[in-house]
Amino acid sequence: GLFGEAYRRRHEITVTGDEVPPPLTSFEMTGFPSEILKEVLNAGFSAPTPIQAQSWPIALQSRDIVAVAKTGSGKTLGYLIPGFIHLKRCCKDPRLGPTVLVLSPTRELATQIQVEAVKFGKSSRFSCTCLYGGAPKGPQLKELERGADIVVATPGRLNDILEMRRVSLSQVSYLVLDEADRMLDMGFEPQIRKIVKEVPARRQTLMYTATWPKEVRKIAADLLVNPVQVNIGNVDE
Ligand code: ADP
Ligand code: MG
Repeated sequence: GLFGEAYRRRHEITVTGDEVPPPLTSFEMTGFPSEILKEVLNAGFSAPTPIQAQSWPIALQSRDIVAVAKTGSGKTLGYLIPGFIHLKRCCKDPRLGPTVLVLSPTRELATQIQVEAVKFGKSSRFSCTCLYGGAPKGPQLKELERGADIVVATPGRLNDILEMRRVSLSQVSYLVLDEADRMLDMGFEPQIRKIVKEVPARRQTLMYTATWPKEVRKIAADLLVNPVQVNIGNVDE
């Protein structure tokens, strides 16, 4: 409606895709389960950020998304909360492998995502394991064995563990590529493609990036199906 249009204009949101739902400009509008809303309000947040407001309703329709927005815009909860809701709908056994997989370029960023997943997912009782290099594999493998609904991983370490056949991605149905541009800059494209080969084609895929150069467009075209694109502000190519 008109209000949604005005909100998009005010926050420099541009959307591309078929029948893009209007932004959810307040937490009350989201219809999130109460245990998730409780965590958001506990955190002291007063309103969704623009990327959250616009990407939540799209993600909740189980559609693929490309979101181009700069650092600090609240992208993590932009994909984590719809991921939680996806998990609630599926009810899979985490011991058979994760349902939600988030790929992140660095150990530091992966750890931050896990902290956010634990904080906002704890009253929903989701389990989350973080896999990254530069640390022994043993404890990470032990955690995986106990079962994880959500795995946050750097591509290199996840590939090592896949090659050891110590994790299955056959249950993944919600795949997030966070900081896609940075992962490609770091040379992770071959690892990303190997990982995605192990994820069923029947899935929802969400890609977050700060910039939109042709390498990122190419991998988005290969891995996403009919995505809605959401840009916040001027997109740096
Ligand atoms: P990005 O991934 O876009 O760089 P983050 O997801 O790391 O951004 O979020 C940046 C900071 O903003 C984090 O500290 C996060 O907890 C906080 N944040 C997320 N959503 C909101 C919100 N709706 N209102 C206020 N702060 C928020
Ligand atoms: Mg981020």
